[in-house]
Amino acid sequence: MRILVLSDLHANLTALDAALQSAEGRWDQCVCLGDVVGYGPDPNEVTSKIRPLAAHSIRGNHDKAVAGLMDTVDFNPVAKAAVDWTRAHLSAENLKWLANLPPGPLPASGIVLVHGAFQDEDEYVFTPAQALDGLLDSSADLTFFGHTHHQGGFSYQQSNLEILHVHPRASEPFAALRVEPNRRYLLNPGSVGQPRDGDPRAGFAITDLEHHTVEFWRVPYDIASVQARMRAAALPEPLIQRLSAGR
Ligand code: ZN
Repeated sequence: MRILVLSDLHANLTALDAALQSAEGRWDQCVCLGDVVGYGPDPNEVTSKIRPLAAHSIRGNHDKAVAGLMDTVDFNPVAKAAVDWTRAHLSAENLKWLANLPPGPLPASGIVLVHGAFQDEDEYVFTPAQALDGLLDSSADLTFFGHTHHQGGFSYQQSNLEILHVHPRASEPFAALRVEPNRRYLLNPGSVGQPRDGDPRAGFAITDLEHHTVEFWRVPYDIASVQARMRAAALPEPLIQRLSAGR
């Protein structure tokens, strides 16, 4: 079984299409770690595409906020403006689907899905100390998380915690990680629609459970066309600029 792991799509249809085109024929099942919408200009298109595509989806903080399930007092003004714009533009059907997404952790097809931290879906996991809960508490050796928009992750075996540097070079479409037996992994596929790790290419992962590998992908897409749609929608300028910066 090869699982396509998508996270933090953030209503960016051009990035999602580029990711799906590169991944075509390379996966058997698709899962989604949340933040389908928020920030980007295509909330309906991305939600309508991911609904039939993902066999398992969990919610992200933006999905929750847009659906009215979460207070946006902790959101910065720019993120809040995007939440309000998104809510106003989503169809009733897509809004309902987002509102009904389950929270993580969700065991699915031999892996576990979380949006943020294992014990708190809204917490950002940046440090090994934060990663430890997920590495120890998850019901599977392979757990995928999102939320930080940073591709990579952590592994753990016999009190040895490692930070994994698995970022593909600018000239490469993916970097592969070998999954070792009796070792636990907490992995971030990167963000499809709004990368923040310095590489503006769309990020995602494909894990092959049979062959014990995880490929961390980065694919270029037409960023300028997305920025043009965002300007036309009068979405906040910092959100527009960060797509090309990848930060
Ligand atoms: Zn996000």
